[in-house]
Amino acid sequence: MNIIMLGPPGAGKGTQAEVLSKKMDLTTLSTGNILRAAIAEKRPVGLNAKTYMDKGELVPDDVIIGIVKDYLETHDLGKGCILDGVPRTIAQAEMLDKMGVRIDAVLSLEISDAAIEERMGGRRTCMKCGATYHVKANPPKVEGICDKCGEKLTIREDDKPETVRQRLAVYHAQTEPIIGYYTEQGKLTAVDGTASVEETSEKLVKALEMLK
Ligand code: AMP
Repeated sequence: MNIIMLGPPGAGKGTQAEVLSKKMDLTTLSTGNILRAAIAEKRPVGLNAKTYMDKGELVPDDVIIGIVKDYLETHDLGKGCILDGVPRTIAQAEMLDKMGVRIDAVLSLEISDAAIEERMGGRRTCMKCGATYHVKANPPKVEGICDKCGEKLTIREDDKPETVRQRLAVYHAQTEPIIGYYTEQGKLTAVDGTASVEETSEKLVKALEMLK
């Protein structure tokens, strides 16, 4: 089963992708995490992408298409995959279709811009393994330290308030049209993304069970 997690920045796509991948034994493809790892390793693809990411803009489609191709060539999707943060444009959605990636379900997390702006202030990220936390809603066991790998947690450059507003504008202009694309294909399920991590993941699992 291949599932797309859709929603604005900060809706909880990454957190829910982690929860669902464990519950359902699926792999996760996060283009954001791959780009951040490439930046940390100072690889050209990462350094080029960083100029867009720091401004809250989307990385060009051809770069993302290259990353997805690489991933599919080097990873066995096993029982299936959760796509977190990809596709983000109609061109990327069409590219997945052309590459023969069968999409079974698209889960769209719904949350207002105002709630996102409030949430993003508390987000903390592990730049080493990609895990995300929230100081109130999903805190790590030890403050400021990643539960999974022990790395110090940081605030992503693109989680700063002015960049968040830009990312929301980009989401509405370039990513939201994907909702129509998958609605037409009968694959979209909208889920309220404002509740707690646990409540939201329960709703997502229920939504997936109904699709089976
Ligand atoms: P994320 O961690 O998914 O919020 O992604 C962080 C940033 O990486 C985004 O704001 C974009 O600049 C870039 N990015 C990640 N995935 C994509 C994608 N599929 N298309 C374009 N840009 C992306």
